[in-house]
Amino acid sequence: MKNFKEKLLNFFRNIYGLDQLNIFIICLSVVCVILSSIFESPVFGFINLVLQILWFCRFFSRNYVLRSNENRKFLSIFTKIKNKFDLEKKKFSERKTHAYRKCPHCKANLRLPRKKGRHTVKCPKCAEHFEVKI
Ligand SMILES: [Zn+2]
Repeated sequence: MKNFKEKLLNFFRNIYGLDQLNIFIICLSVVCVILSSIFESPVFGFINLVLQILWFCRFFSRNYVLRSNENRKFLSIFTKIKNKFDLEKKKFSERKTHAYRKCPHCKANLRLPRKKGRHTVKCPKCAEHFEVKI
């Protein structure tokens, strides 16, 4: 019995476990379960099965380097999307006081006070001048 307990503990000690990508996959799986119950389509059930197998394999994986690289790539993509949504949310909340324009030279987002008319703007990032219409 003690040998079995040691084997079990050793097995769980070396698994990769949960990370942000696995949590995201589990959330997608839950969404698929909800969609499959609403639309009663076997497609969502199949996608859910694939997602379940994926997070299960990642959870019990022993290849830490590969799983960590996958998670790092996921986080970089997720952060870009999240930052885009945060910027859109900020643009919407400040729509009456500020306008957002992109610098044509370095593509930086500039937050400008909302004053109607044509203005010459100096980009703080690349120091180039360009004209904007608000
Ligand atoms: Zn610029």
